[in-house]
Amino acid sequence: MKKIENMNFWFITGSQDLYGEETLRQVKENSMKIVQELNNAALPFPIVWKPTVLSSDAILSVIQEANTDPNCAGILCWMHTFSPAKMWIRGLSVLAKPLLHLNTQFNEKIPYDTMDMDFMNLNQSAHGDREFGHITARMNIKRKVIAGHWSHKDVQDRIAVWMRSASAYIDGKNLVIARFGDNMREVAVTDGDKVEVMMHLGWSVPYFGIGDLVACMTQVSSAAIDARVSQYLERYSFDAKKSADFAKEHIREQACIEEALRSFLDKVGAKAFTTNFQDLHGMKQLPGLACQNMMADGYGFAGEGDWKTAAMVRNLKVMAHGLKGGCSFMEDYTYHLEKGNQLILGAHMLEVCPSVSEAKPHIEVHQLGIGGKEDPARLVFDGRPGKALCVAIVDMGNRFRLVLNEVDTVKAPKPFPKLPVARVLWKPKPDFTTSAETWILAGGGHHTAYSDALTTDYLRDYAEITGTELLVIKEGTNICDFRNEIRWNKIAY
Ligand code: MN
Repeated sequence: MKKIENMNFWFITGSQDLYGEETLRQVKENSMKIVQELNNAALPFPIVWKPTVLSSDAILSVIQEANTDPNCAGILCWMHTFSPAKMWIRGLSVLAKPLLHLNTQFNEKIPYDTMDMDFMNLNQSAHGDREFGHITARMNIKRKVIAGHWSHKDVQDRIAVWMRSASAYIDGKNLVIARFGDNMREVAVTDGDKVEVMMHLGWSVPYFGIGDLVACMTQVSSAAIDARVSQYLERYSFDAKKSADFAKEHIREQACIEEALRSFLDKVGAKAFTTNFQDLHGMKQLPGLACQNMMADGYGFAGEGDWKTAAMVRNLKVMAHGLKGGCSFMEDYTYHLEKGNQLILGAHMLEVCPSVSEAKPHIEVHQLGIGGKEDPARLVFDGRPGKALCVAIVDMGNRFRLVLNEVDTVKAPKPFPKLPVARVLWKPKPDFTTSAETWILAGGGHHTAYSDALTTDYLRDYAEITGTELLVIKEGTNICDFRNEIRWNKIAY
């Protein structure tokens, strides 16, 4: 996985100096115990315990610390006792990290037999967290609220989803997407406001001339190419016996492109990139296999200068890090419109990520109809069947909009003996007609980030953390309500 920074989340327990030493000692012990147990659960990032906050100064100071700590990806707040929320105003007004408000309680059950007023003094999250909820609502603070006992798996699973979404946002805060070539031709949806996106999400989108990459390619040693080709042959299948020598040469060419891309991206600190098949001056092939293999290692990528989709692919890869399933650049390519059995074939000219493949992908070398370059090596495979999603990010002029469609990826009823690219065949939810019509009404692009590792919940949290509009097309979606949602969102944003 292409470098994810070391991230952690801070656990801040709220109280006040009203209850006396004994109660505060209990508060400390209990919150430490919760953090310890959460760290023993299967959460994707460690949680760091912070001392109980009792005053406005302490709150401001821990939030300022969280803001400036590069490893802190967000804070979890919980009010063990009551914690008067005027104390929180100074701190919350400068909060610059994602916030999860965990409305939990140390004890799972009411101890009917032993419960006394000391217990009532100590365990006040039921009202303490509502006071905190009030001030965060009034101050319009972006946050996730999770209510339930901290030891319950569903609560921990929801914390994990939020953490992963927050980590993608934090990764995006200093994400560089290198563009080799501009967004292609006069395509509208792949373009967008690069200044606005940097202010809104932190993405930086510098342009590099393809000549800079070509110069890097001349520096690649044949030993490095050999090593990369060995990796290809380990990861993917290739019929060396049946293939002509030129095919092997073309695979080596992709390895050379990949080595140059990796070192170039490292140099400029980029974890995502785009290519443009009409801007390949000095290159023999369009990067195909190279892009696919790099996506498999966590780089964001999209074709035709589509930097927004490249960044979304990187986002999904960060969110899904270590989960079963994959994430890829994707394009709604061709329809199967048989009545009652409509399907969408997702593919691209070359660059679909092998992480979404059902079986071991094959390396093949075929002619490319456009671009006027040598036949590029690429991976060919069928997508893994199961639940998946496609998400597009578009620039609506005054805001960015995410459009998401839940889909069921299916096994192709027949092979594609003549199709020389990777492909994924899916049934969109709730049905083809509603999916395509709502998607088009929402202005969703043809390029998407596709994943069978993530669910809509991750993207909902991401949208809340970043304050980005999200339209979801799923089971139960209908066109009338969806049109209204678009209308209302226009006013809301
Ligand atoms: Mn395309």
